[in-house]
Amino acid sequence: MRLPLLQPWRWPGGTLTDREVILVRAVGPHSEGWGECATFPAPTYSPEWLDGAWDILRHHLIPLVLGEPLDAATLRLSAIQGHHMSKAAIELAVLDAELRAAGQSLAQRLGATRARVTAGVAVGLTGSVPDLLDEVGRRVAEGYRRVKLKIHPGWDVEPVLAVRAAFPDLALQVDANGTYRLDDAPRLAALDEAGLLCLEQPLGGDDLVGHAAWAGKMRTPLCLDESITSAAGAASAIALGACQVINIKAGRVGGYLEAVRIHDVSALRGVPVWCGGLLETGVGRTANLALAALPNFSLPGDLSGSNRFYRDDVTEPVVLGPDGTIAVPDGPGTGAVLRSDVLDGATVESRWAGAG
Ligand code: MG
Repeated sequence: MRLPLLQPWRWPGGTLTDREVILVRAVGPHSEGWGECATFPAPTYSPEWLDGAWDILRHHLIPLVLGEPLDAATLRLSAIQGHHMSKAAIELAVLDAELRAAGQSLAQRLGATRARVTAGVAVGLTGSVPDLLDEVGRRVAEGYRRVKLKIHPGWDVEPVLAVRAAFPDLALQVDANGTYRLDDAPRLAALDEAGLLCLEQPLGGDDLVGHAAWAGKMRTPLCLDESITSAAGAASAIALGACQVINIKAGRVGGYLEAVRIHDVSALRGVPVWCGGLLETGVGRTANLALAALPNFSLPGDLSGSNRFYRDDVTEPVVLGPDGTIAVPDGPGTGAVLRSDVLDGATVESRWAGAG
């Protein structure tokens, strides 16, 4: 489906004006569930992309799991290498269907311990410092307590220090999406004076040793995003000293169940985590809220209200509370309530696959 974004999303990987996204609907004997595949149109964030996901879902993944309950489905999906976002979409759809049939919330199922989570918002690239200050000011006025700024070479120390000067008490962090080299670290150490919660992913996804070296050059805690694709990988990164914080995105790691394992591995080693976002519709957004309510999600995530991105979401909207927090849905499954009028209007193509 294609859902218009309220404003273009500019980040180091490009610019989006619409969210083109695949939703997976799992229909069982007693209930149905929905999952969201977090791919972007081009493989700029990870190796996965929209058309590739459409293909792998239809021709490889869905045929493997038709008619199977969650446990068998996840086992079968593990036979296919990679394609984490597509697998995560199937896992969430089946999990949501099973939980709705059982009358249990996803938050309960994952081990949530909080009824509300602190919201956070990611601000894309704006192109000028005044525009950036305007946008951050708007988000703060909306009630967000934590803001994440995108940075890349040529857009880093000056804009970030300008935001810090204008908003001295704001919880602030930055994300580089792997656009730097290790020899940029001494210059970026100027960001230490901004008192950031973390600097996210300065180097490429596979450069754990480089990140370990970088961590020694700054006081700002180093966070990994693209580098962490599994619980085993998280354990390796922590053992190498490549991160002090981890950003968990269920799509990137193959699903919410692996996301919980990364949460657990990190908690055992004293590494806090937070929940990242990929411009989710209400389907993925409600599931992220359930995940972010686990105890070691001790930093605010990219968890914003639906109106951060969409005028009309495909679900009843996720709403930012006046205290800067968002309620964790407690209804069965993700708790998402689909709006069929919006969904029908946004649908570009749909395919149905049936078991035997
Ligand atoms: Mg990131």
